[in-house]
Amino acid sequence: MVTAIVGANWGDEGKGKITDMLSEESDIVVRFQGGSNAGHTIVNDYGKFVLHILPSGVFSDHTTSIIGNGVALNVPDLFREMNEIVERGVPQPKILVSDRAQIVMPYHILFDQYEEERLAGKSFGSTKSGIAPFYSDKYAKIGVQVAELFDEEALREKLENICVQKNVLLEHLYHKPTIDVDEIMNTLKEYRKMVEPYVCDVSHYLDQARKEGKRILLEGQLGSLKDPDHGIYPMVTSSSTLAAYGAVGAGIPPYEIKRIVTVVKAYSSAVGAGEFVSEIFGDEADELRRRGGDGGEFGATTGRPRRMGWFDAVASRYGCRIQGATEAVLTVLDVLGYLDEIPICVGYEIDGKVTKEFPTTAGLKKAKPVYEVLPGWKEEIRGITEYEKLPENCRRYIEFIEKELGVPVKMVSNGPGRSEIIHR
Ligand code: GDP
Repeated sequence: MVTAIVGANWGDEGKGKITDMLSEESDIVVRFQGGSNAGHTIVNDYGKFVLHILPSGVFSDHTTSIIGNGVALNVPDLFREMNEIVERGVPQPKILVSDRAQIVMPYHILFDQYEEERLAGKSFGSTKSGIAPFYSDKYAKIGVQVAELFDEEALREKLENICVQKNVLLEHLYHKPTIDVDEIMNTLKEYRKMVEPYVCDVSHYLDQARKEGKRILLEGQLGSLKDPDHGIYPMVTSSSTLAAYGAVGAGIPPYEIKRIVTVVKAYSSAVGAGEFVSEIFGDEADELRRRGGDGGEFGATTGRPRRMGWFDAVASRYGCRIQGATEAVLTVLDVLGYLDEIPICVGYEIDGKVTKEFPTTAGLKKAKPVYEVLPGWKEEIRGITEYEKLPENCRRYIEFIEKELGVPVKMVSNGPGRSEIIHR
């Protein structure tokens, strides 16, 4: 049985918490895309953690955590993070790294920084962790797989070729120091020593695991709207954020993904630039940002203040549809308890016409939000464990959203902690 946990929005929906929670009843948790560019915040019995590259299942000692082939593997980040959680009392996690995962090279990080500098005011707001240069190289067929670390001669030959190309750009486009094969080889030898004990033929491992009836969880990073194909291109990430890609990025048959748990945030937030129709500004936004998430809406990786907005039913319905959501989890609902009234964006007005379908980026640029306003519940809902005990207006808000999404909301999260969840 394979379950995917993915986001319906711009990311930061609270997938980490839900994965941590569901990993209790899973045998294997797999990261299938993205790298250490975004963070998942998890609060459990061991404390509060921000994970960037480790699967959020590392806190359950019966689970195996896997870095799938679709991930942009930053080797030092992986081991830094593993050591950090162990130092804080978490049992040594069982980790496997796909022999087909590709490695984020030191020059990918440099190129990310240099390109952002070059674009200056027109930059993508990259986290500068090398993700776009990494995936560009992967598809240009000049990436380096984990397995390649074990054939030094072939690796050196490949890198010599890569350096020629990279150095032209470094010298003539960016006017920066060039890179050297020996230095990169030394770094990669270090990486090899670090990953060697964990390298695994992951698709084979997962095939066996499935046959033994093991419960597998695929953990997505970011959300639907950041998908390079279906999101707000070009202000997207560089790998697919969709459950469907879980099959590719982990190496399992697509039809095995039976349950697609799509995490939907009870209001909107986004980090970085890009279209965001229901965005709010000024004091209204500041207050929501201050009260939002667990101690404010600031990027888990960058610390940047997140952009804030009301719940966007158009974007979230699309986000669920494109994920193929079989169920939704509505998160951070507790944050909204201070509001007298809560607007929900139910349509986009584009050139004088109202639509409920999420358009391409050109349409989004022109879209104005159409709101329906629901009454607030003006109550603290943290600590409530049964759906029927939620205030009536709170249930009304959830049921309104459920109808708009067209997907059953099976869980409602009313606090950052692992146990702060209401099942329906
Ligand atoms: P992810 O990338 O989707 O895992 O999301 P992040 O970790 O970036 O952001 C979610 C933030 O909201 C974290 O600080 C979580 O601890 C917090 N969080 C998750 N669920 C809830 C909830 O139901 N209520 C509150 N108040 N905070 C939550």
